[in-house]
Amino acid sequence: MTDVRDLLLPHIRQLKTYDGVDPMEVMAQQAGIPPEKVIRLNGNENPFGPSPEVVRALGSFQHFNHYPDPDQRQLRDVLSGYLDVPAEQIVAGNGSDELIDMILRMFLGTGENIVIPTPTIGMYAFSAEVCGGKVKAVPRNEIFDIDIDATLAAFDEDTKAIFLASPNNPTGNTASEAAIRALLATGKVVVVDETYYEFCGQTVLPLVDEYSNLVVLRTFSKWAGLAGLRIGLGVMNPDVALTMMSMKSPYNVNLAAEVALIASLNDRPTLLNRVQAIVQERKRMIGLLEGIPGIHVWPSQANFILCRLPEGRGQEIFEGLCRRGIFLRYFNTPQLRDYVRASVGLPEETDQVVAALKELVGD
Ligand SMILES: *Cc1c(COP(=O)(O)O)cnc(C)c1O
Repeated sequence: MTDVRDLLLPHIRQLKTYDGVDPMEVMAQQAGIPPEKVIRLNGNENPFGPSPEVVRALGSFQHFNHYPDPDQRQLRDVLSGYLDVPAEQIVAGNGSDELIDMILRMFLGTGENIVIPTPTIGMYAFSAEVCGGKVKAVPRNEIFDIDIDATLAAFDEDTKAIFLASPNNPTGNTASEAAIRALLATGKVVVVDETYYEFCGQTVLPLVDEYSNLVVLRTFSKWAGLAGLRIGLGVMNPDVALTMMSMKSPYNVNLAAEVALIASLNDRPTLLNRVQAIVQERKRMIGLLEGIPGIHVWPSQANFILCRLPEGRGQEIFEGLCRRGIFLRYFNTPQLRDYVRASVGLPEETDQVVAALKELVGD
């Protein structure tokens, strides 16, 4: 008998699982506390939840027995109004994660590569590896800005695309328009992931008309609190969008996500007020964290803050936080040794994180 695993494609067999966030119950069990006591600041989620209009709209919607529109007509129309770009340049996806995957399936062949300035989220490398592609990681400089010369030097004839997040996750800083233009000039596909746009207001969306090789990604997961419903979008050249529409899974965005997106856009003032509250809380949290001796805090344009803990103590402090029911994202890679990333939550959550860190660091 052959082992069925021998039939798997070698690059799929070797794949490492993407490390996502655990459900609330799992975190609560780990800490031995009830789920409602958990301080969940490891996924950059919105602490205010979705708009109340979303809850209302989903509760009264009558047509979940119907398939969603494969051409995304209404969805692309409302997104066109929101983004002020023509509908034929927009494709909606099951989270921006699906757009990352679709772009790679459109452009990246076996043995070809993408370039990523690191550290950054794992999704780009993960999706490239699913396609049988290779990843060229180029370290960012000491303040986590993209090292343009090193990045350009990493491009070779097998390079198809570069993926960068602006603001970047987990470093919180944006990429300059000059840097992005330098990358666009290479003619490779340049994907600018603007997941955290609403927290900083800096965008390269207007460059899509100028560069057919630019794709800008946005999502409703973070600013609009719809992470669990999975809806993101890409803005790109209309021919690329047409190709993406023709290759995507026909019903990729579910009707609940569509209903929620429309309700969110109708309640934009509420959601943008909450974004403002998060931005203010970010400032307050940075100030408090900076007051803890031994912790280095990085500036942030997003809804999270990257901190370097005292040398050699990252694991111990991270675990101490977990035992108190406080879950941050912990990094211990060569580039991010003893680092944690804390999402900006509610003021009382900030206060608990700061108090716990003071206690743990001072030990
Ligand atoms: C959270 C995040 C995503 C994922 O967004 P979804 O729309 O929820 O798939 C993509 N890129 C970056 C940089 C992120 O931080």
